[in-house]
Amino acid sequence: SLTLQNKCALVTGGSRGIGAAIVKRLAREGAAVALTYVSNPGRADETVKAAQAFGVRALAIEADSADAKAVVAAVERTVGELGGIDILVNSAGIGVMGSIYSYRLEDFDHMLAVNVRAVFVATQAAVQHMKTSGRIINIGSCNADRMPFAGGAVYAMSKAALVGLVKGLARDLGPLGITINNVQPGPIDTDMNPADSDFAEVLRTQVMALRRYGSVDEVAAMVAYLAGPEAGFVTGASLMIDGGFTA
Ligand code: NDP
Repeated sequence: SLTLQNKCALVTGGSRGIGAAIVKRLAREGAAVALTYVSNPGRADETVKAAQAFGVRALAIEADSADAKAVVAAVERTVGELGGIDILVNSAGIGVMGSIYSYRLEDFDHMLAVNVRAVFVATQAAVQHMKTSGRIINIGSCNADRMPFAGGAVYAMSKAALVGLVKGLARDLGPLGITINNVQPGPIDTDMNPADSDFAEVLRTQVMALRRYGSVDEVAAMVAYLAGPEAGFVTGASLMIDGGFTA
């Protein structure tokens, strides 16, 4: 039988990119899935239809991760419409790069609100409803461990924050049998980080061990493992999937 049959999942930032691949993979494993998006109802709808093609319930919820009330409402709607929440994947994220000499405080606050505060808020809302064997998975970044170029400090900080967050929350949630982990991708071909840019060529040839970008499906496979019954002993961990970016 399917590994996630009868499970209900919420994936933030599930309309495009890594999040959309996770939505489809969890659906393929039998989970009912809700996704959030902020700006792209068309792509959200496409991903919902692709998930439904696996014979599961799926829905899209507009919820800006920068808005804590909207994030809590998305969790509550997931519970209401799917009948519970067993798996929370925090994938929504942004990367505003810029030099320390010109970086705007608004961008600093927005990045932390989406990449860090929303993860905490969604987790806090979800665990009120989670039963034993609940699963929380955040999409961090290899940049938590290595930032090989200038201008990425705030992004790296936001992803490094998740490393500490899951260590601490693993202690809060361990007695309940709920696990919480980070997946830390290296360069993955998405709208955020297209594999055909000049920047990508520098990463492939000068930073990575494997000289290629990863695919969204490779990341989704690691998330599916962490979401499934075989990963019950993994918690508080930050798992690298980076083509040797940090090697
Ligand atoms: P994309 O930019 O391709 O997609 C971002 C997704 O997040 C979209 O679904 C978007 O929704 C959603 N999103 C963005 N901002 C918000 C917000 N404020 N509220 C709700 N949803 C939001 O990004 P990726 O798929 O590349 O990245 C996904 C995650 O993976 C991020 O956390 C990123 O930091 C991380 N990551 C990416 C890497 C890469 O190389 N691509 C490497 C390491 C980590 P909408 O469609 O509505 O805009």
